[in-house]
Amino acid sequence: MKLSDIGEFGLIRKIRRLSSHSSSRTLIGIGDDAAALRVSSSALLLATTDMLIESVHFDLSYTDFYSLGWKSAAVNLSDIAAMGGIPRFCLTSLGLPSHITAEQVLDFYRGFNALLRVHKTALVGGDTCASPHGLTIGVTVLGEATKRGVLTRAGARPGDRIFVTNTLGDSAAGLELLRNAPSPNPLPSGERNKKRGGYQSGIRTLIGRHLRPNPRVELGRSIALSGCASSMIDISDGLSSDLAHICEESKVGAEVAGSSLPLSPALVEQEHHLRKPLLQYALSGGEDYELLFTAPPARIRKLRAFEASITEIGVITRGKGMSLVDDAGRKRPLASSGYDHFRPGKGRPQRASQRMVRHSPI
Ligand code: ADP
Ligand code: MG
Repeated sequence: MKLSDIGEFGLIRKIRRLSSHSSSRTLIGIGDDAAALRVSSSALLLATTDMLIESVHFDLSYTDFYSLGWKSAAVNLSDIAAMGGIPRFCLTSLGLPSHITAEQVLDFYRGFNALLRVHKTALVGGDTCASPHGLTIGVTVLGEATKRGVLTRAGARPGDRIFVTNTLGDSAAGLELLRNAPSPNPLPSGERNKKRGGYQSGIRTLIGRHLRPNPRVELGRSIALSGCASSMIDISDGLSSDLAHICEESKVGAEVAGSSLPLSPALVEQEHHLRKPLLQYALSGGEDYELLFTAPPARIRKLRAFEASITEIGVITRGKGMSLVDDAGRKRPLASSGYDHFRPGKGRPQRASQRMVRHSPI
């Protein structure tokens, strides 16, 4: 059986079935944003790991090392945020090709540690090896949560409302602009890149959202502690894909109101520079690292505390399947169009260096 026959998520499902022997201390194992493990009667250890592979997740022709470090931390901190946890410790593993310099590696760690400092997380170990083909980055983050405060992908129920934090689609639009930029790498290393000539502020905002995403750790923790939410996931693969993960784990369907999806002023401002309708960036553009969560109507009032940073976008339904509803109430099926590593031609357009450059908008 080829990997492309079953896809990334089909393969993970098979690994999960094969590895079903779990200890009584495994509260949540394979299948969520992070594992939740019972280490004492009161505390849960959260554990998550992610890889970033050159030419799959990033391209060194437009990513500076400081941003790459920042983003490598963000991707993992976001999975802890999605559980409602607090990140505490982190380990990094690097496979380094011979053309990478020591200064580039140190710049990577400047960016990495800058985001760890924001979230009071300590780098406590890792591994460093030579790599014959491309730069490989592995990051593991350990965090903590209380049993009451942990949110999974499996708790959504019919009638629950669906919410997202902040805005959607900026990162995918930023990637497209980066790929089409005449002078790539508009956010050079270090802190000194606050002011950059040559790029309009909207474009800089979108590119910044792609290269240096901000994981919603505090917001995720507050949502979990509020007791309002029934399920949560971070938006890494794209809204439609990550909502499909909630639907699969919770055994429910969903309806999303297309016109309710929150778009940033920068995305709207740059519409004429972008190749696709804005709705498509919001629905299937990945790597926003925002949070998607559900809440029963009776508990929604309590969410007012987060009003400025959350938007209601739809409702959980009975049965399977997701649909997109337009302003006239017409429904059409909403496919899970996020990225699948073994079917890069399906779902949303390919990541990083596999993308085609069509025109130069900047
Ligand atoms: P995320 O996008 O939130 O990082 P993934 O889609 O990568 O989540 O993974 C989904 C689930 O499958 C997670 O629980 C993850 O730990 C697990 N998983 C992915 N790959 C493997 C693997 N090779 N072995 C064991 N578990 C895996
Ligand atoms: Mg995740």
